[in-house]
Amino acid sequence: MDTNKLEQIVSEVISKLNMEMQEGTCQSSQPKIPVEASGRHIHLSKEDAMTLFGTDELTVDRELSQPGQYLYKEKVMLIGPKGVMKGIAVLGPCRGKTQVELSSTDARSIGLKGIVRDSGDLDGTESVMVSAGGKVISVASGVIVARRHIHMTPEDAVCLSVKDREIVSVRVTGNRPLIFEDVLIRVSEKFRLSMHIDYDEANAVGLNASSFAEITL
Ligand SMILES: [Zn+2]
Repeated sequence: MDTNKLEQIVSEVISKLNMEMQEGTCQSSQPKIPVEASGRHIHLSKEDAMTLFGTDELTVDRELSQPGQYLYKEKVMLIGPKGVMKGIAVLGPCRGKTQVELSSTDARSIGLKGIVRDSGDLDGTESVMVSAGGKVISVASGVIVARRHIHMTPEDAVCLSVKDREIVSVRVTGNRPLIFEDVLIRVSEKFRLSMHIDYDEANAVGLNASSFAEITL
């Protein structure tokens, strides 16, 4: 047997073993993905936090399910063209740009259209005024209806046979089960496996405590 052929066989065997090892780390071939409904909230830039609250170190209320993400005790009010919305949750840590995440229903209720975007993709999105403690800032573009997405680690991505930024369809169980198309896969070591939908989507599927998601394609 020539050396090339031998090397080829060895590399095939090794890659097969690697695949089996990776599959071995998966709890099952189709893990049940937890589903969480995200309420309306805002991420503030340090600059905007300083203007509204006089500090960029806000008060942590509790940690969120994604590691390193917090809910602050501070709240803001949104002022749109046709209405205001009080008690908006502020999530931390501060980001490079201020981003407001609403459901379509929320957006319409204050006179906005509600543009579906991925987090951080803010060019050309709608504007809103944000107020807290008598201070007001204008966010020129930054209001989005977050595209539904699944956070996961690189290990989860191997288990689920998906890649970062891939778009998939997902079946979500609930009182009214649904298949959601156009779901973004987001992979990072910093993430914990969870599908994020907004309250419009959660209500549509009748989300309950035993709901879970599974990728269908
Ligand atoms: Zn998310």
